[in-house]
Amino acid sequence: MKTVDKELFKDVGSLIESVDKVIAIIPHHNPDGDAIGAAVGLANILFNRGNKVTIIFPNDFPAFYNWIEIKAEVLFYNSNKKTSKKAIEHCDILFCVDFNDSSRAGQLEKTILEFNGPKILIDHHPEPGSFCNYIISDISYSSTAEMIFDFITVTGLVKFMDKTVAESLYTGIMTDTGSFSHNISDPNTFRVISALLKFGINADEIHGKVYHNYSTDRMRLLGYCLNEKMEVFTEYHSAIISITQEELKRFNFMPGDTEGFVNYPLSISGIVFSVLFIEKEDHVKLSFRSKGTFPANKFASTHFNGGGHLNAAGGEDNQSLEKSVQKFRQLLPVYLHQLINASEELK
Ligand code: 5GP
Ligand code: MN
Repeated sequence: MKTVDKELFKDVGSLIESVDKVIAIIPHHNPDGDAIGAAVGLANILFNRGNKVTIIFPNDFPAFYNWIEIKAEVLFYNSNKKTSKKAIEHCDILFCVDFNDSSRAGQLEKTILEFNGPKILIDHHPEPGSFCNYIISDISYSSTAEMIFDFITVTGLVKFMDKTVAESLYTGIMTDTGSFSHNISDPNTFRVISALLKFGINADEIHGKVYHNYSTDRMRLLGYCLNEKMEVFTEYHSAIISITQEELKRFNFMPGDTEGFVNYPLSISGIVFSVLFIEKEDHVKLSFRSKGTFPANKFASTHFNGGGHLNAAGGEDNQSLEKSVQKFRQLLPVYLHQLINASEELK
C-alpha cells in the first residue's frame, strides 16, 4: 500500500512546471545504485523537458556505474567544491533524493541547510527529517527510483521519458532490491519495471554492467573475507566480517569493491543478522543487514550512530576496529531473544 500523498506529487509538479527553473539535485554521500539512478532519472527527464539541471554528488561513485548516461550537468563536491556550492546556491529548486537526514549528504549538509529556496525531498527511508519544505516520503517503495517513476507519471513529465531515464531508474530498482531478491512483494515495483522495459532498455545488459564488472582484486578480496574474516555466531543467528585498512590496500581497494559483501552471511541457513566493519582512516564504517523482523536500523541508530531501513542499515563508530567489533560482540546477548524470534519466524 502506497501512503505517499499523490497531491504532494502534483504540488511539486506545479512548482517545477516552468522550463525556466534551474534545478539542482543532490543524492546521498557514497551514492549507491538507487541514489545515482534516481538522481539521473529525474535529472535527464527534466533536461529533456528543457530545464537547466545539475546533479551534485557529495563524493565519487563506484566505477561500475560510469556507463550510466547523464545528460544533465554533473558535479562532484569532493573534487569541485566552489562550482558545486555555486550550482546549489544559484538554483531555483533543490531536490534531495534517497536520503532522510541532511547529515547523509556528507559535506554538502551545510549548503543544503543554508539554501533558502524550495527544497524537495523524494525518499523511501523511515523517519524523514524536516530539512526540506516538501517531504515526499514512503517506505513502502522498493527504491527512490521507483518513486521517481510514479512522480514523473503523476506530474505528466513521463512524456519526456527516453531510454536513458528508463535505464537509470531500472538500475536504481535493481540495485536497491539486490537484483529483485528483497522488498519485491509489492506489485507496483513490477508494474514500474514493466513500464520501464517498454522504453527499449536491455535488462540483461544492465545487470551485467553492474554485477559482472568487478576487478580480479575485488573477487579475491571477497574470497579472502568469506574464508578468513567471516565470524559466525550461530547461537546468536549472526555473522560479521571485519576488514582492516591494511587488508584493503593488499587487495588494491577501489571504491565500491566491498559493496554487497555484507549480504553473503545472510545466505547461511539460520543467520538473520550480518554486519560488515570497514576500518577507515579515522573511524569504522558499519553496514547492517537483517532478515525478517530483526530491526537493523534500530540496532544501528541505538549503538552505532546510524540508521536506515528495517533490513538494511549503516552506521559509524569512532573507536578502533578492534574495539568496535568487541562492542558488537558484547551487544549480542542483549539481542538474543529478538534474534531467535526473527529466525524462528522464518522457519
Ligand atoms: P550500506 O550498508 O549499503 O552502506 O547502507 C544501507 C542503508 O543504510 C542505506 O541505504 C542507508 O539507508 C543506510 N545507511 C548507511 N550508512 C548510514 C549512516 O551512516 N547513517 C544512516 N543514518 N544511515 C545509513
Ligand atoms: Mn534507496
